[in-house]
Amino acid sequence: MLLEADDLNVRYGRNHAVRHVSLSVDEGEIVTVLGANGAGKSSLLKALQGTAGATADALRFRGQDISSRSAQKRVRSGLVMVPEGRQIFVSLTVHDNLLMGAYCRRDSDVAKDIEGVYERFPNLAQRRTMPASVLSGGEQQMLAISRALLARPVLMMLDEPSLGLSPILVNQLFELIVALNRDGLSILLVEQNTHKALQTASRGYVLELGRVVAEGTPDQLRAGEKLEAAYLGAG
Ligand code: ATP
Repeated sequence: MLLEADDLNVRYGRNHAVRHVSLSVDEGEIVTVLGANGAGKSSLLKALQGTAGATADALRFRGQDISSRSAQKRVRSGLVMVPEGRQIFVSLTVHDNLLMGAYCRRDSDVAKDIEGVYERFPNLAQRRTMPASVLSGGEQQMLAISRALLARPVLMMLDEPSLGLSPILVNQLFELIVALNRDGLSILLVEQNTHKALQTASRGYVLELGRVVAEGTPDQLRAGEKLEAAYLGAG
């Protein structure tokens, strides 16, 4: 297993936001985490990244216990999150945003990797010296993903990447996720777009009020009633 969490919990004071979650991602997999607003999806990803305080019976990445590792060290070992809402630096240039993604790296291939991003995304290349504020929502999401790629991830965790994108851009985004996965990247995908996420992932988990209420293949999750209930329950 690439990533394994066993009995993971996140508490904000008395709010037990992530409850006894056990989850795994194998090498080469796309795994999705589904659930309504407030189900605890972002808290789960932040706990895995190390930016939210958590307790767990076990938290392993690439076979090593990472439970006491800082977020920065987790990034350096290849566990990289693309946060919800993209969180790019709109006043910085596109190029400087990409450089930020490489802040943990010590090697000399950063410039080469940035050129690789520009080849993949000509829209970003054309705007490399402009502030990121000129980018469209879809381009900003590409920039956020590219910035994460600059950290040389082994496992990329994406928090609701399709949020706010038009249907065409959502399709492009999911094509990109599949292409990155084909290139060898493992992916943990938090989504509210259940339909697209289940089309793309090989396995998934459904969170409801911080708990895993269903897990399995896309077919198993579509056939069960937990998926619908998780959303209706929160509505
Ligand atoms: P969304 O899709 O709205 O982001 P989510 O499934 O990602 O929802 P979380 O954002 O993880 O859910 O929130 C889970 C619970 O934890 C909610 O009750 C939320 O109010 C609470 N929560 C999240 N972040 C904090 C925080 N920093 N401090 C206190 N409570 C928080």
